Amino acid sequence: MPDPIYLDHAATTPVRPEVRDAMAPFFGPRFGNPSSIHRWGREARVALDEARERVGACIGAAPDEVCFTSCGTEGDNFAILGAWRTARTAGRHAVVTTPIEHKAVLGSVHQARAEGAIERTLAVDSNGIVDPGSFDRLVGADVAVCSVMWVNNEIGTVQDIPTLAGAARSRGVVFHTDAVQAFGKLPIDAREQAFDLLALSGHKIGAPKGIGALFIRRGTPLAPLMHGGTQDRGRRPGTENVAFAVGLARAAELAVAERSAEYARLAALRDTLESELLAQIPDAVIHARTAPRAPHIVNISVPGTDSESLLMALDLAGIAASAGSACQSGSVTASHVLSAIGIAPELAAGAIRMSLGSLTTEEGVRRVVQVFPALTAKARRLAGLAL
Ligand code: PLP
Repeated sequence: MPDPIYLDHAATTPVRPEVRDAMAPFFGPRFGNPSSIHRWGREARVALDEARERVGACIGAAPDEVCFTSCGTEGDNFAILGAWRTARTAGRHAVVTTPIEHKAVLGSVHQARAEGAIERTLAVDSNGIVDPGSFDRLVGADVAVCSVMWVNNEIGTVQDIPTLAGAARSRGVVFHTDAVQAFGKLPIDAREQAFDLLALSGHKIGAPKGIGALFIRRGTPLAPLMHGGTQDRGRRPGTENVAFAVGLARAAELAVAERSAEYARLAALRDTLESELLAQIPDAVIHARTAPRAPHIVNISVPGTDSESLLMALDLAGIAASAGSACQSGSVTASHVLSAIGIAPELAAGAIRMSLGSLTTEEGVRRVVQVFPALTAKARRLAGLAL
């Protein structure tokens, strides 16, 4: 059996050895609490402050604009609910987002709605790109926060965040972007781009699960989600995870240093994968193929297949991918992203997301190209028999 092929980097990535090495001392002798006055504490404080500075440097932010979080989901919740709970007292009652956001954003917006916010959803085109006319109409002086993801995690669509953030700023609206899938793929610079809030997640870039960061532009009012001590100047109480903050800093630096070369490498592999699959399965559909896309996400539907059985068949063949549809309580429901871009439910039901990254090689892509068409042909035959 050849080595298994991991094509699920948008779900998570392996912890990089450099990151593990950078974190190791903090699981040993450097175990101090950064709030302690003694030498152990001071040592931890220095490491934490440095990590904050280093993460900030990766996105053009000052150290005090970086808030460490436990994950991307926490960053999105903090951004949206923190901004909403502050702004509602100033009479801004609307929260604006897109229909293709990750559940971390959609869930936060629903919570704001439960607390009295008016929810507004921007229109998107068949590639998932936000309609500028809809943005003009919905983003006005009564908006507490507008949240638009930078790169979509299911179809890879890239929004023009610099333009949207600039337009929000010109209307005095706080702008948040979920950059969990964008960081390490696209250039992010808070000095030149007008977003006020930006969420990152460590485990998508070779740091462990359990660490993320929220960029909070100086002067952006944000009510804390948690209450307690004075850590991070009261923005996020709780003893800081120094080891993981140091790991995130190392992973972020590596991602930025390798960004251009890795973008080109992944885009070439993605193009080969897509064109070879389409050559062999001419009626397959690659979703949002004509959109500006990040290089690491391929979302493909083969008519007459269903993603759950296909994923199992792929797994047996040693290929790990994920579904473009969500499996909830045993029934597969069409992905909200695919349905928002107008994909028919029958086609969405067979969607498979393959996401490329550090473990992806030419050899791996070649094997997928050999195996996938035969598996889908078999799935179609079986589906035909079941009719
Ligand atoms: N936002 C996007 C676009 C994601 O892809 C993910 C994770 O899949 C998240 C948010 C949530 O990040 P985390 O798993 O760190 O909570």
